[in-house]
Amino acid sequence: MLKFAAEGIMPMTITTSTRSTILFPVLTLLLATIPSAAQAAPPKLSVHWEELTAADFREGIHRSQGTCLLPIGILEKHGPHLPLGTDLLDVRYAALHAAEQEYAVVFPEYYFGQIAEARHEPGTVSYSREMQLALLQETTDEMARNGCKKVVIVNGHGGNDSLLPFFAQTQLDKPHDYVVYVFDKLSPPSGGPAKKTKIDMHAGEGETSNVLISRPDLVHPDRAGQESGADQHRLNLPDGVYTGIWWYARFPNHYSGDGSAATKELGKFQMDWWIDTLTKTIKAVKADHESLKLQNEFYEKAKHPLETQP
Ligand SMILES: [Zn+2]
Repeated sequence: MLKFAAEGIMPMTITTSTRSTILFPVLTLLLATIPSAAQAAPPKLSVHWEELTAADFREGIHRSQGTCLLPIGILEKHGPHLPLGTDLLDVRYAALHAAEQEYAVVFPEYYFGQIAEARHEPGTVSYSREMQLALLQETTDEMARNGCKKVVIVNGHGGNDSLLPFFAQTQLDKPHDYVVYVFDKLSPPSGGPAKKTKIDMHAGEGETSNVLISRPDLVHPDRAGQESGADQHRLNLPDGVYTGIWWYARFPNHYSGDGSAATKELGKFQMDWWIDTLTKTIKAVKADHESLKLQNEFYEKAKHPLETQP
């Protein structure tokens, strides 16, 4: 929740004996101060882009110092027991809570990422690579045109791990008047309740625990054992060799781990960590005045590389 100090009204202690003598002046004083108090206290603003009026949006951009979040999820199967929108629901839960702690404007539901590897499963929405990049570019361009000069893409889906840094890198191919940041940490590196399972890459113990916090009504723990989330080891390629079918080779059910091991305790630990780390990231991005300066310097030099001096 956002907390705003009520300014302008001084706290007063009135004793019974003095009340009658000072009541009128006090009332007059209070009436006189109420309008200015209303002006001084900043109105509570939603962090949801789509909930703001046009005028409040202007105030939101001002209050966020042009810092906006673009949480990215996906629509894909999540084992036999979790909703298709798991990544979207979780990343929005984290982003909205973080933005309430450190104000930022949060873009509406966005799930147009990379998920070619789950095209064989029902409910997967997998756009072409051209569409993914074009839509993301036009989205961040439109955000920036509306004052989001610092766009923090908050990733909620492992399949975007290559797409998003590539997108950020290619912002250097022509000038932009805004900075794209990618926040791609989904779970704490250590600590918290001990995990019961060893393999846990998709819809397993960790991710199922998160949904027990974000949308417990959508979890079906009793169904988690209906399919195997075991590693099938169907490819034997040396380390350092990548091929797109690796995931299907290991986890053909698009399920890795065992969701029945999930607990609320683990989910709370992971979600609190995610929200806290993202809150600190928003603060750090607000304080970053170098990236845009360096980008502008770079774009200028890139126009005439032969004149760039060592
Ligand atoms: Zn997921």
